[in-house]
Amino acid sequence: IDPRERAQLPVLPQGFTSSQFATALAEIIHYLGKQHVEINDKPLDDGWYIEHPNTHDAFNLFDSEDTVSSAAVYPGSVEDVQAIVRWANKFRMPIFPISIGRNFGYGGAAPRVRGSVVIDLGRRMNRILDINPDDCTCLVEPGVTFYALYEEIQKRGYKHLWIDVPDLGGGSVIGNTLDRGVGYTPYGDHFAMHSGMEVVLPRGHLVRTGMGALPGNNTWQTFPYGFGPYYDGIFTQSNFGIVTKMGMTLMPNPGGHESFMYTFEKEEDLPQIVEAIRPLRIGNILENVAQLKHVVQEVAALGKPRASCIHPGEALTDGIRRIATSLPYGDCTWIYYGTCYGPAELRNPKLKIIHAAFTRIPGARKIDPQTLPPDHYFWSRDRICSGVPDIRELSWLNWQPNGAHVFFSPICPIKGQDAERLLAIAGKWHNKYNLDIFPAFCVGAREMHLIINIVYDRGCEISRQNAYRCMRGMIQEAAGYGYGEYRTHLLFQDQVAATYNWKNGALMNLHNSIKDTLDPNGILAPGRLGIWPAAYRNRGWEL
Ligand code: ADP
Repeated sequence: IDPRERAQLPVLPQGFTSSQFATALAEIIHYLGKQHVEINDKPLDDGWYIEHPNTHDAFNLFDSEDTVSSAAVYPGSVEDVQAIVRWANKFRMPIFPISIGRNFGYGGAAPRVRGSVVIDLGRRMNRILDINPDDCTCLVEPGVTFYALYEEIQKRGYKHLWIDVPDLGGGSVIGNTLDRGVGYTPYGDHFAMHSGMEVVLPRGHLVRTGMGALPGNNTWQTFPYGFGPYYDGIFTQSNFGIVTKMGMTLMPNPGGHESFMYTFEKEEDLPQIVEAIRPLRIGNILENVAQLKHVVQEVAALGKPRASCIHPGEALTDGIRRIATSLPYGDCTWIYYGTCYGPAELRNPKLKIIHAAFTRIPGARKIDPQTLPPDHYFWSRDRICSGVPDIRELSWLNWQPNGAHVFFSPICPIKGQDAERLLAIAGKWHNKYNLDIFPAFCVGAREMHLIINIVYDRGCEISRQNAYRCMRGMIQEAAGYGYGEYRTHLLFQDQVAATYNWKNGALMNLHNSIKDTLDPNGILAPGRLGIWPAAYRNRGWEL
């Protein structure tokens, strides 16, 4: 659609005529006030990470008009959220809650059903309700970003408290945890580290989970389970409720940390490196979600366009090799970034064990950080691994014109043969669609996520289609070997959900029963995570 025509063509929610939409909007405008309802009738603006849109996915894979909202509403309180949900039930209006909407690479702020009304919780509900310096916990609203929490802790002078941050610090603590995002300190599993939620259910009822259900409690943020069934998990990666408050535990400052970096020479070193990592990680000698990155990522992190790095006609691997020789530590293929925590007397014995294990691999080298310039990527990893928010990872986007990215993120055991097999699958599909491959293994306690970031030109339909098809191919083939994604972009959620199909989709049947019970009118984020309300299910919405 020509942007000039767009102004005359407001997006309508599913099943609405323009006059029905106008009637519904008038009611919510009357309740919230004109200034807290915004119709999406202006040309779509992709903005950038900081000034991100809440109308659509800035990293569109289809046409950006596909997953686009009809309007955004800005609640200022829990009561407002309940009123919006009741309003949505009355009009059968699809609504899509976001906290900040910076879920870049996973769909951003875009609703799955075109014309949904986005509930932008973060704009007005952005208070840090509590930071408890004794228990090392906090209680936050959806609009609290990792940056905001970090800055508040510094402002209050709590030098003994750390937070855990993901790769990019501009997202919401609640939004990231609900999507089961990860960070890189020992508190990196955000869901595991949260304690207590307050949730508006799809019919408008309000619940508190864990100890929050006990009036007068003072342990909501210190004991996550409370009494009886534990529900928090069903509000993550789902469309079963809107989280309006969440507790999070904070890591005590460990009294020192030291980031380190090892380089490995050859592509074929991968299985050996992974085998060396496994016992160290399970034994907690490697204490954080560490990253094993291909050197191609290091080159992309320089923030230069591909066209200025790779010569015309040159193979990517040759170009990378050539550039790698000019990096401060010279040519290599795999790079391990890790961090040890605690004062030197605690760190040093661990660092010694790690050094002995890694240097058994021929050609492995420990890089002295003092030889790296202050703008080197290592220092950005060092900040993130010690709980300081950063946005350096965005520099990747310069690799392509109109750079956008999408993640392929399957889980596999920390085993050499799995690492090789997954990488071979990804390589095959990247070759087929002529895409550069950027692999990194993020090593959790007993498994690892292979994270492959496809960087594409969102201004070019062929580039978008190649990224989309490559993703679909990798998801399908990997599932054939028993590998499943831990999280995925909005447009692949049906496909990924369908791979979790043991016993003819017993798990999805359970999701559907819960969805139909909690959300009989099917208003809350239809289709998110492949969970469709009865009114949409099997009617051609699934991708
Ligand atoms: P970020 O924190 O990275 O900006 P978002 O706010 O975009 O992330 O949230 C990621 C996804 O999680 C959203 O697309 C939305 O579906 C879901 N989500 C975010 N916040 C909430 C919330 N408070 N309640 C329910 N679902 C939410």
